[in-house]
Amino acid sequence: MTFQKNTEFKNSWVVITGGDRGIGRAISYQFASYGANIIVIYKINKSEAKKTISTIKSMGVEARAIRCDVSNYQLVQKIFSQIIRYCGSIAVLINCAGIINDKTITNLTKKDWNIVIDTNLNGCFNCSKAVLKNMIKKNYGRIINISSVIAQTGNIGQSNYAASKSAIIGFTKSIALETAKYDITVNALSPGFIKTDMTKNIPLKIKQKIIKKIPKKRFGLPEEVARAAVFLASPQSVFITGQVLNINGGFYM
Ligand code: NDP
Repeated sequence: MTFQKNTEFKNSWVVITGGDRGIGRAISYQFASYGANIIVIYKINKSEAKKTISTIKSMGVEARAIRCDVSNYQLVQKIFSQIIRYCGSIAVLINCAGIINDKTITNLTKKDWNIVIDTNLNGCFNCSKAVLKNMIKKNYGRIINISSVIAQTGNIGQSNYAASKSAIIGFTKSIALETAKYDITVNALSPGFIKTDMTKNIPLKIKQKIIKKIPKKRFGLPEEVARAAVFLASPQSVFITGQVLNINGGFYM
């Protein structure tokens, strides 16, 4: 993969939860290619995190991978305060960590429900909470939350996931309102079906059915989401806050 050299985010620190794989990794690479220093938060996948960090460092910026379960409020506060001490400040937070745990409602247990809400929604709250005091103090910040097209359409077997991702949209708009006066913007990206580990096990027949419904006739690429993340964090987007940007090949309009 080659990246165009650009220094728009030089000396800024960007934290990407779920930054070791999939969409988060593409976002990490994209920001690094714009000169940002990167903190990758991962849950368990140390080998992927190592690979990602080594690629980022090869782009000439600083990078660190930190293991942290975003659903653990106390742990997140502790680790983020260490990150802020180390970096001075966090310019951009990307809340990308997410999971699915698909079952129709009759089979969905309380545990199945909780784990998705705890990771996708509470994780987003925990990390935003952990950076916002510092962003307010610095009078600057960008938060980008990764929602999903499923928040907008719903999906069979994904009531937990859809609920977590819809709530992220309401959360995004509310925090955007609360922080606009501090030159902080808070936006959400709503990707459609993107080629990552999360979608690789969709059975071929269902995949083909989905593709038929996507006007662009394919799944999106992680890089296509990553470019939108950089756009929303860039100085050109200073007047964009509380928005949901759809990246779905026309699947939902
Ligand atoms: P992947 O399954 O490829 O990656 C998920 C990432 O989240 C991994 O980095 C994983 O870390 C991390 N993660 C999961 N749980 C936790 C946790 N508790 N604490 C910290 N990190 C955690 O997913 P995608 O890249 O496809 O998805 C990224 C985001 O985009 C998710 O929020 C997803 O819901 C959203 N999205 C994805 C779409 C798609 O089609 N792929 C469509 C719309 C939205 P580790 O590697 O350590 O397990």
